[in-house]
Amino acid sequence: MDYESVIGLEVHVQLKTKSKMFCACQNKYGSPPNTQVCPVCLGLPGTLPVMNEQAVKMTVLTGMMLGCEISPYSKFDRKNYFYPDMPKNYQISQYDMPLCKSGHIDLVKECYPKDAQNQVSAAKRIGITRIHLEEDVAKSFHLETTSSIDFNRAGTPLMEIVSEPDINTPEEAFAYLSTLRQILLYGKVSDADMEKGQMRCDCNISVRPVGQKEFGTKLEIKNMNTISGVRRALAYEIQRQTGCLKKGENLTQETRRWDEAAGQTFGMRSKEMAHDYRYFPEPDLMPVDTAVFMNEVKSWLPELPAAKKQRFMSDYRLTDYNAGVLVADLELANFFEVGAAPGKNPNAVANWVVNDLLRDLSESKLAIAQSPIKPLDIAELVEFCESGKISSRQAKDVFVEMFKTGKMPHRIIEEKGLSQVSDAAALETWCDEAIAANPQSVEAYKSGKTTALNHLKGQVMKLSKGKANPKTVDGILIKKLSA
Ligand code: ADP
Ligand code: MG
Ligand code: ZN
Repeated sequence: MDYESVIGLEVHVQLKTKSKMFCACQNKYGSPPNTQVCPVCLGLPGTLPVMNEQAVKMTVLTGMMLGCEISPYSKFDRKNYFYPDMPKNYQISQYDMPLCKSGHIDLVKECYPKDAQNQVSAAKRIGITRIHLEEDVAKSFHLETTSSIDFNRAGTPLMEIVSEPDINTPEEAFAYLSTLRQILLYGKVSDADMEKGQMRCDCNISVRPVGQKEFGTKLEIKNMNTISGVRRALAYEIQRQTGCLKKGENLTQETRRWDEAAGQTFGMRSKEMAHDYRYFPEPDLMPVDTAVFMNEVKSWLPELPAAKKQRFMSDYRLTDYNAGVLVADLELANFFEVGAAPGKNPNAVANWVVNDLLRDLSESKLAIAQSPIKPLDIAELVEFCESGKISSRQAKDVFVEMFKTGKMPHRIIEEKGLSQVSDAAALETWCDEAIAANPQSVEAYKSGKTTALNHLKGQVMKLSKGKANPKTVDGILIKKLSA
């Protein structure tokens, strides 16, 4: 019997507001432990929360970017539980009236793992069930003999984005998370850096015999913090669950944890022990009327990656590949557009950026913002090539120098005396010299060995110290040899 898997993801995303969700503390990553705190986010008794409107707006913007319905009326609820990371014994969250509902994400081919992209055939849409807003909790550290806790994270605005169980493979889960991350970055709602815990993911997964309508038993892998880890954990879990079912064993609902080093998941707790959170409306906060700021948030809507890609292909005639690579990173896309604007050949600008610049940046571990080459420098380089002032071979050398020194192309061309010679008189002399000095090649060419022309051309290039325009040389040689 064949089995198939069903996957739904719950993604937590920290919003990059200036202050925390319900107090005025700074929302800032990387401060010394317990320095960005106040009685509210420490959960001391007698304090009152004040809603961060910016966080609500950013959540609504995220909903709009993901095609959600925005609830006109929304409220906060208390989710009650006892744990040291939340000393007031409840987390302010949203239960039955989340800010956003029923959206979707269209998986982008470039967002699948590199080694799986050629297997992607059909477009796939993953439903978003809901997006709600809550407060992040403190972070505990379990050391060898003690435990400690840092409240800087407590009260950070946290969106939870819940998907429908529409994902069927680890590769789709990977693509879903990468596509989502791109959109979050475009909207500037979060830096979504998984290493910093700004984006975290719980994976729900079940397997069932192909053809069965009902879902199998759902297991949850908690707190994944890399996208490639999600792919590996899911692949492992699918194999494990399928193996159990094939042996006739029953699976029970449980929460598991992924151990990256071991490459395995381990059971943490069974769902029979699941909490009853006794949700009830938060009495200290007013409900939210989203209509008040809908127009403002609409005006924040960015051009999304998919739309930008289409525009790059139609306006600049970029290849599908170049456009895909450029829009994957908003800063890179912007860099390209600055360079492409003044030029007559935007595809050439795209080729330099996608092939040469990205390679050199990654080799020197630089971000696009730190690029020694600026967009207009690339535009200038393309102009020099187009006008035949330098050859494409010379352009490669100029580019190397540009990356090394940050100098503009015209300065490098001037300093190195690089400009290509198209001056007919000089070229004719070099061609004559080459022909005179290489009678064998001339003989060979005349007896039909057309490749002999390359040898002659090489001689001309040598005589010109690489400055001759190879195309013009070709023409002159052919003319002289057939005379
Ligand atoms: P819970 O209340 O246990 O958190 P939910 O119904 O809210 O469960 O679903 C949480 C996530 O699990 C959602 O992303 C949903 O799509 C996914 N999910 C639900 N049922 C299944 C299933 N049988 N297999 C895989 N994923 C599932
Ligand atoms: Mg859950
Ligand atoms: Zn605070």
